[in-house]
Amino acid sequence: MNSPATQHQKTTSARLLEGRHAIVSGGGRGIGAAIAERLAGLGADLTLIGRNAATLERAGAALAAAHGVRTYEAVADVTEAPAVQSAIAAAAAKLGAPWLIVNNAGIAESTPFVKMTDEHWRRTLDVNLTGTFHGCRAVVPMMLAAGGGRIVNIASTAGQVGYAYVAAYCAAKHGVIGLTRALALELAKKNITVNAVCPGYTESDMTVETIRNIVAKTGRSEADARAELARLNPQGRLIQPEEVAAVVGWLALPEAASVNGQAIAVAGGEVMP
Ligand code: NDP
Repeated sequence: MNSPATQHQKTTSARLLEGRHAIVSGGGRGIGAAIAERLAGLGADLTLIGRNAATLERAGAALAAAHGVRTYEAVADVTEAPAVQSAIAAAAAKLGAPWLIVNNAGIAESTPFVKMTDEHWRRTLDVNLTGTFHGCRAVVPMMLAAGGGRIVNIASTAGQVGYAYVAAYCAAKHGVIGLTRALALELAKKNITVNAVCPGYTESDMTVETIRNIVAKTGRSEADARAELARLNPQGRLIQPEEVAAVVGWLALPEAASVNGQAIAVAGGEVMP
């Protein structure tokens, strides 16, 4: 008899998304790259969207070599609606109608609220919230025409609770969860699910930058700053990008068809429903 661990291995290594096209914004590095890796491991063909062609091409070539999937790299800034629209149209022409989009591209900047500029506020909402809207708007007509699909928006625990010094980021990520819930209801009868995944502090360039900021602003050591972030997680550690990717991969599978409109925390228990 197989142990639960072996069974899990079998399920996750099966190419259950073979022939499906998945789009990941910000898929060239960080959490997005781990998500793309997971989806390619499940057999999906991948479109990676981001602003840096070299990063995307490197990541796409590695996925194709490791998993034998087709890849397409589209340079686009998610804040620009026409760029997103034409990137996704070109991706669909190349790899077929998308089964899945993961709206993952995001930025996080911190500042005391009284020092927040219009620029900071707009940039943060533009990338995290409007960028997610652009991705959803580009794929929904294609998914409707194809008879189904999956949308996963990478929000954050900052979409579920507030944190000091990141008011714009919290507002944007709460917005992402609102958009997710509304769209989930609107598309519920169309074989399209819409969910948000909400990581706690995760090992990526973004968290390296957050740690650098804490060190610069408070004079604390890097180890202390890292430990402070880890303490927010009841498990006392940073989340690994692969842990976020595993949840996204599962949401794309047939067995997750009834999970809709949810904001799933991947944060060691920091946020309880
Ligand atoms: P990184 O900073 O490591 O990566 C961000 C990704 O987003 C990059 O691929 C970047 O691509 C892309 N991106 C940023 N701005 C744009 C833009 N305007 N247009 C297109 N792509 C863009 O961050 P993470 O991997 O950590 O974050 C991924 C997501 O997870 C974000 O939405 C973030 O808010 C969320 N998250 C992260 C947490 C963390 O602790 N790290 C915790 C909770 C949520 P490029 O710069 O090459 O264009």
